[in-house]
Order: sequence, then structure tokens, then C-alpha cells
Amino acid sequence: MTFEDIKKRVREISKIANISEKEMNLLLKHKHIRKATLNVNGKNYPAFRIVHNTALGPGKGGIRYHPNVSEDEVKSLAFWMSLKTSLLNLPYGGAKGGVKVDPKKLSPKDLEKLSRAYIRKFHNYLGQDKDIPAPDVYTDAKIMAYMLDEFEKIKGYHEPGMITGKPISLQGCPIRETATAAGAFIVLKELLKKINKKHCKIAIQGFGNAGLNLALMLHKEGFEIVAVSDSSNGTYKEKGLDILEVKEIKEKTNLVEKYPLGKKITNEQLLELDVDILVLAALENQITEKNASKIKAKYILEVANGPVTLDADHILKKKGITVVPDILVNAGGVVVSYFEWAQNKSGNLFEMSYLEKRLDSLMKSAFDEVYNLYVTNKKKMDMRLAAYGIAIKRILEAEKARGNL
Ligand code: NAD
Repeated sequence: MTFEDIKKRVREISKIANISEKEMNLLLKHKHIRKATLNVNGKNYPAFRIVHNTALGPGKGGIRYHPNVSEDEVKSLAFWMSLKTSLLNLPYGGAKGGVKVDPKKLSPKDLEKLSRAYIRKFHNYLGQDKDIPAPDVYTDAKIMAYMLDEFEKIKGYHEPGMITGKPISLQGCPIRETATAAGAFIVLKELLKKINKKHCKIAIQGFGNAGLNLALMLHKEGFEIVAVSDSSNGTYKEKGLDILEVKEIKEKTNLVEKYPLGKKITNEQLLELDVDILVLAALENQITEKNASKIKAKYILEVANGPVTLDADHILKKKGITVVPDILVNAGGVVVSYFEWAQNKSGNLFEMSYLEKRLDSLMKSAFDEVYNLYVTNKKKMDMRLAAYGIAIKRILEAEKARGNL
């Protein structure tokens, strides 16, 4: 999604929520746009760290390694982080980082060099009270460990709270790995309670960290998942897939389509299945003006960031399809990052059961807030605009309190 599209969405909500031109201008302006070139073995890679807003707290947001990374994409992702942390009532602003690189083409040693080079370029702007990175697409706990190590070497002191999503051995949080899926699962169960539905058919696009873990949680609780897909193709079984068996096949062959009891389907076919819930857990821009009119699901759960485009949103709304938005659905990851940061900063260690309970209550109250605003204003706004409205209002209140408006 381009930042221009985000601007259009914010303009839509500004009309409903009485946001002034001055407030809009402040909201659509990024606080810091920082760029650098990382050199690894004679090759140059463009890198970014962009802070959108810090009215509610220090910047927070992952670092993405992908060939499509651009300044515009990082600006959009940083903006969404501001909304996500605000919606969940976390003491953070929004930020994001990225390197334009195909990490699959780099050796593990060169990936380490790239990650350390990133910190050498941006360390002055990072820190537990300034801006706190985390993993994103194609970055993981191992990369966070290199980044923390490089940062602490430069500074000469320990500061584990400068980055989250670290390995457990470097004060990471054990529930971080499954946190995004756990958050999405809580949101889905709350939604089903509200719409009074116990049995439903589900299709899931994406079988990686978020999609697979969510599929496992749903399967364990007896939900009927009729289709899943990865970047190649999908597998479909009308009576429901055994997700544990599909996982095994994926591990063996790297392709879910090889599941012998399922029928091979394309990703396009998966998106157009007649199901109750369609979970989008792969990439951005999956439902666009081209396929939105063919979607038959009644509800769409956005686990990925920005999987439904602005034009598609309008078409889905007309068709009566409810989209549960990304800034709510996938917020479990940043909530658990917050737990990790709070532990690192305070030196306290919390019981896992306590953290799981806190995740549950933070996700549920954010869901309730969004859902209640949505149902009372159904004619004027969809769930996305309701979520944007709540998050934006909090940021603007903080800006006002600071005397910036
Ligand atoms: P991942 O790389 O672990 O998994 C992505 C999955 O999507 C893989 O199974 C891949 O094969 C599949 N995929 C790729 N292209 C596809 C295509 N065209 N059609 C169908 N499937 C395709 O990534 P992840 O961590 O699971 O993240 C998935 C999405 O969720 C991303 O958009 C990410 O930004 C978002 N997200 C993830 C987290 C997290 O904590 N993991 C947090 C917030 C948001």
C-alpha cells in the first residue's frame, strides 16, 4: 500500500471524526526519515529507519529485509505502527526500518555483516527510550541478536531494551514467537462471540510464522480449516484439513499442495472460496479491485499488513463483507514486544501465565473498543475506519497535551 493510499484513508476518517486540516497535516508528517547505504563485500544496499510519530512514546517497529523495500513502503509501515501501538494503548509511537536486499541471496555471514552495518549507520537514533526495532519480514531473533551485540559494542554498556524479538538467551520473551497468531486467535474468537457463531469454515492464505501458528491454534480447538496455502499453491479439503499432517508435509516437501488428502488449489482459488472466514496471513495487496468482487467469505481477518487495498475495501463494503483490520488483528506481536521491553528496562521477570493473561486482556479490550464504535456507526464506517479513528484520536490528544496543536 502506498502512503498516498493511506492519506486517502485518513482523509475519509477525518470527515467522520472531525479531524481538522492542521491535525491531518501533523498526522501525515513523518518525524524522521533516515536513509543510508550499507556496504557488504563491495555491494551497496539502501537502508531506511523512519519514525512516524512519538507523541505517545519512543518509536517502535520492525526491520524488514526484502528486495521491494522502498522509502514509501517503510513510511506506510511506520504510520501503521503508530496506529497499532496507539490502538493497543501501548506507551509507544510508530517507526519502521528496512533494507532493500534479497536475503535469500546472502550467506549467513553476509547477513550478519549487513545487520551489524545497519546498526553502525543508525545507532545514534536507536535506544530503549528513543526508537526500538524488532523483527519483520525475513528478519528474526538471530538478526536481533547481532544488532543488539553491535549496538552494545559501540555504546560500551548493556541495553537489551533497545531491540525486541531477541533470543531467550539475550532476554527475549518466550511467547514472542507465537504472539501474533495468539493475538489474531483472540480477536477471531471475540468476533465469533459477537456474531453468535460457533461453527465456521476457515481458509488461510500464508503458512509461515503467523498463518501456521494460527492454523495450529484453530485446529487444536476444533475449528474447520478447509484450505491453507503458501507462496506456491494451496491445499483444500471440504471436510477440514488435519493441520498437523499438513505441517508435516510442508516440513518435508516445503509445499502444502503435496498434502495427499487435500486437493491442490491456486492462491487465487483459495481467496475466492465460499467460507465464513478468510484469513490473510501472507503479503500486502492480496485483495485488490481485480478480485474483490469475487470474494465470497463473510469475514476477512487481516493478519498480514495491508493485504486489502483501498479500492478493494470499498468493493467489499458494498458486498457486505466485514474486514477485521490489520492494526488490530496482528497487534499481538507488538504487545509481547512491549512485555519484553518492559522486562528488560525494569529487570523484572514476569510469569508466562501473567503475560498470556495480559495479552488476552489487551487484545480483548482493543477489539471491544473497535467493535462497539463500528456497530454504533455501521452506516458511516467499517471496522478499519473505527480502528483508525480510535488510534488517531489518542495520538492527537497526546499532541495537544504536549502543546503541539
Ligand atoms: P513468514 O515469512 O513466516 O510467512 C509468510 C507465508 O506467506 C509463507 O508461508 C509464504 O510461503 C506465504 N506466501 C508468500 N507469498 C505468498 C503468496 N503470494 N500467496 C500465498 N502465500 C504466500 O511471515 P509471517 O511472519 O508469517 O508474516 C506474514 C504476514 O504477517 C506479513 O505481512 C507480516 O508483515 C505480518 N505480520 C507478522 C507478524 C509476526 O510477528 N510474524 C507481526 C505483524 C504482522
